[in-house]
Amino acid sequence: MQSGDTPLNPGDEGPPDAPGVGEDVCRACQGTGTVEGQRCSVCNGTGKVLQGIGGG
Ligand SMILES: [Zn+2]
Repeated sequence: MQSGDTPLNPGDEGPPDAPGVGEDVCRACQGTGTVEGQRCSVCNGTGKVLQGIGGG
């Protein structure tokens, strides 16, 4: 894991190209990217997070 082209956000559970990981709307900011006027710290303002899907 030396590649740094896809920095993960605090809310991400894994890299986007990992099996069983999918993009989902950030529940902390409801996909808006902001919480109470400030950038969401979970998705880093992207409004999306990478979550493990399917079992695990
Ligand atoms: Zn968010």
